[in-house]
Amino acid sequence: MTLTIGFVGLGNMGGPMAANLVAAGHRVHGHDLAPEALRQAEAAGVRPAASAADAVRDADVVITMLPAGRHLLAAYGAALPAARPGTLFVDCSTVDVAEARTANARAVQAGHRALDAPVSGGVPGATAGSLTFMVGAAEADFAAARPVLAAMGSKVVHCGPPGAGQAAKICNNMILGISMIAVSEAFVLGESLGLSHQALFDVASTASGQCWALTSNCPVPGPVPASPANREYRAGFAAALMAKDLGLAAGAAESAGLPVELGLKAAQLYADFAADEGAGLDFSAIITTIRENGK
Ligand code: NAD
Repeated sequence: MTLTIGFVGLGNMGGPMAANLVAAGHRVHGHDLAPEALRQAEAAGVRPAASAADAVRDADVVITMLPAGRHLLAAYGAALPAARPGTLFVDCSTVDVAEARTANARAVQAGHRALDAPVSGGVPGATAGSLTFMVGAAEADFAAARPVLAAMGSKVVHCGPPGAGQAAKICNNMILGISMIAVSEAFVLGESLGLSHQALFDVASTASGQCWALTSNCPVPGPVPASPANREYRAGFAAALMAKDLGLAAGAAESAGLPVELGLKAAQLYADFAADEGAGLDFSAIITTIRENGK
């Protein structure tokens, strides 16, 4: 079924996601504050809209893909009053769980349906249409959003009520951030003990140290030829985004009074790394800091 979709936020992720919706046969009205993002989306078949309100006016479904919660709430401020009653609002940005729930409540209050559906898979997944969506939604809203999400991804998981998608995203990325630091510390310790990278990889990748940070995104060059370590840590998943996600996890844990000591430490290490030379590098480049700190 061809739908009219309003798409707000056509950046690195939103641009290719909107292009995949066009390729699936939908009418996509897109808006971005950056003229260059709008121009690129137009080249992919998105109809440019001068404002968020213009993008959503005739929409059946509205998708947002914005940097953070404050951008989402600003965009909803403009879009909610302009959309037809009952429009389905789908936020794919990664935002604070509390802000996701606020955005959802505002949409419902304005007479719409709303859900959070953050993603993993990065720009390659957005381009290939192979993202994983983690969805927080009422059952009926999940069913309505599913075919639209399936046009941009290969896996759509219903995690629970509104906010549960964001919760799953930050918990997963807390595991990833901590495990990348653990793998990096193990390689640096191995180096100091005279152990080759390949030997440690051959053992740990088939033993109890096995994890994605080691076997898919290995922080040293050699054992996994496709990992960013083999191309001077060109991202990949940028350290700045890992710092953002760990900051969201740390904030949620603090609000809940939970002592997630490794999560907080990982958030601090990545915040320092991203504030320095690491921001644009793949998050596995954290190994360079760990190595330098030991000198
Ligand atoms: P981006 O900065 O490339 O794109 C965001 C776009 O939103 C920009 O083009 C900006 O101009 C636009 N924008 C900001 N405020 C706006 C507003 N009020 N109205 C209209 N447009 C507005 O960011 P991105 O890499 O596309 O990431 C988007 C979201 O996806 C973030 O929440 C990020 O954490 C998440 N995410 C990113 C990746 C990744 O690998 N890039 C992976 C998973 C999740």
